[in-house]
Amino acid sequence: MKSLLKNIIGPAGRKKLRAVQASARATVYGLGNDVECPICGSTYSQFLPFNRPNALCHSCKSLERHRLVYLYLKNKADFFEGDKKVLHFAPEKCLHDVIRKYPKIDYQTADLMTTYIDAIGVMPDHIMSVTDIKFSDNTFDVVICNHVFELVPDDLQGMREIFRVLKPNGYAIIQGAVNNSLPKTIETKDLSAEERKRIAGAHQHVRRYGLDYKNRLASAGFRVEVSQYVKELNWKKFGLMPDEDVYVCWK
Ligand SMILES: [Zn+2]
Repeated sequence: MKSLLKNIIGPAGRKKLRAVQASARATVYGLGNDVECPICGSTYSQFLPFNRPNALCHSCKSLERHRLVYLYLKNKADFFEGDKKVLHFAPEKCLHDVIRKYPKIDYQTADLMTTYIDAIGVMPDHIMSVTDIKFSDNTFDVVICNHVFELVPDDLQGMREIFRVLKPNGYAIIQGAVNNSLPKTIETKDLSAEERKRIAGAHQHVRRYGLDYKNRLASAGFRVEVSQYVKELNWKKFGLMPDEDVYVCWK
C-alpha cells in the first residue's frame, strides 16, 4: 500500500509530502516546554531529530554538544565576564551568534574553509589551518576548537599551536568525538571510506578518539581538566548527552 502510494504521487509529490511531514512535526514539537535550549531560550515539547531523536534546536539549530559547551562557558567558566581575547576555530553559528554580542569579548573566528558549506552560516574572520595559526605566542585568553581534530591528520601539531597562542593561565575548550568505551584512539586515514565511516563515524574523519584523548591534549603541553559538568545539569531538560565530558585545556 505504501509503495503503491509512492508510485502514484511520484518524486515531486514525495518531496512535498516530506516537507509537509517535517513542518507538521516541527509544529507539534514546537509546542510545550518540556525541553529548553539554553543558548536561545526557546522551549519545546522536544528538539527536532538529527540522525537521532530530540537533538536539534528549532530556532538556533544547536545540538547537544553546543548546548553543553555554552552552559559550561556561562556557568562554570569566567568566559562572559570582563575583557577577553577569544579565538574560535570552525565557529558553530549558534555559539558564534551569542558570543559576538558581548562587547567586552574581542572575538576572532578562523577556519580552513575546506569543509565550509552554506548551512554553517559563519564566514570566518581568518582563513587558516589550526596546525599553522597566524597569531603570535601568548595572544588569547580563550580558544574554542570543537570537533575539528578528528579531521586533522597532524592533530598534535594543531594542539601545540593552540597551546602556543594561549596566554599563560588561558584555557582552550577542545571537544572531540570521543568514544568513552574505546581505550585507545584508532587512526583511520589509511582505511577505506566505508571503514572510516564505520569506525570514525564519517568518511572525512581520520581517527576515532578513545580515552587517551586527554593524554594527547596533555602531550601538547596542556593541563587537562575533564569536566563532568553535565552531571550537575538537568540533561533531559536541556537536551544534553548524559555522558559527554568537557575538555578544558589550561596553559
Ligand atoms: Zn536554540
